[in-house]
Amino acid sequence: MKPRLVLVGLGHGQLEILEHLDALNENYEVSYIGGREAIYTGAFPQVIAGEMESATTRLRRDVSPVAERLIGLDPDARLVETDRGHVAYDILVLATGAKSRGIGNRLKPMTTNMLDEILQSDAITIVGGGKAGVELAFACIRQKQRVTLYARDILPELPRHVGRQMARRLVHSGVTLILTSFQPGTKTEGLVLDATGVVPDDFWSAAGLAAAGAFIDTEDDLRHPVYREIYITGDMAARLNGGVDAVRSGRHVARQLLGTPRPFKSRTSLNILLTTPGRALLTFGKLTWHGRLPYRLKRTIDRRYVERFR
Ligand SMILES: Cc1cc2nc3c(=O)[nH]c(=O)nc-3n(C[C@H](O)[C@H](O)[C@H](O)COP(=O)(O)OP(=O)(O)OC[C@H]3O[C@@H](n4cnc5c(N)ncnc54)[C@H](O)[C@@H]3O)c2cc1C
Repeated sequence: MKPRLVLVGLGHGQLEILEHLDALNENYEVSYIGGREAIYTGAFPQVIAGEMESATTRLRRDVSPVAERLIGLDPDARLVETDRGHVAYDILVLATGAKSRGIGNRLKPMTTNMLDEILQSDAITIVGGGKAGVELAFACIRQKQRVTLYARDILPELPRHVGRQMARRLVHSGVTLILTSFQPGTKTEGLVLDATGVVPDDFWSAAGLAAAGAFIDTEDDLRHPVYREIYITGDMAARLNGGVDAVRSGRHVARQLLGTPRPFKSRTSLNILLTTPGRALLTFGKLTWHGRLPYRLKRTIDRRYVERFR
């Protein structure tokens, strides 16, 4: 009998793994637990700005989910608890992402309903001045009447002059920038979006995969150090960082499952965030470049990605 390979969640890494389904089917009895659609977060600000029709990626048509949601996990018994009962596995790949902290409306996991709500709202309040919050504020101000951004700092991980320059551009674009911590109970306008980063999902510590409040540790091969039959991809893994790593982690796990492993090397990723119309800010570690070419590059990368998994 073939080993039972269970894939959970339609994160970026899982889409990469599912591309190899035909080859995987030769060696494993493959089951998938999760939804049929996911929003590609790299591109949804462009949907809000009216510059892209859709950022929806879809599960392959030849895959029928055995259940829609993972509810719990017993790694000792090798059982996933789902909305449709228990599913046993020999090898498990988790790609369920992390969740927003919970201020206002959650951006993660992003859903079609949430995206529709953002599109329909005239006023938006964004909390968080990191890359996600800043890109979202620039995207919203192109279509919305009122956009407020609460941030202690703008792009704190980048050189200070870049943060100051982007803060000026936000204000010139019409965003109300409030440089202070957002306090619960603050009077807000419109839909409040939480762009303060992601936190662990409760089931990770309940299942013993991580300490409470911690991301999941893995070995270099992205397998859990104790439960070696569990692969961790994307935002769930402590060693990974952002969407580019989420995609890379899926490729890495696919190679391992297919018997052609290579060590996973952490590396600095290239990030591009859209700013004012026709321009974007490219960052690579501390290096930055704001202009038209990063915009064209990002549009090409995102269009290709969405078309590939449409
Ligand atoms: C506004 C914004 C913009 C961003 N822009 C960029 C960018 O330009 N570049 C970049 O690199 N990163 C970007 N990021 C970060 C990026 O979104 C994440 O790093 C990336 O989505 C992580 O992917 P993932 O594979 O871990 O899972 P996710 O993309 O979070 O997907 C997880 C999937 O699992 C599903 N799921 C969750 N729980 C369960 C469950 N219990 N059972 C079954 N399924 C479940 C979810 O519905 C979802 O479909 C951005 C984030 C935000 C918020």
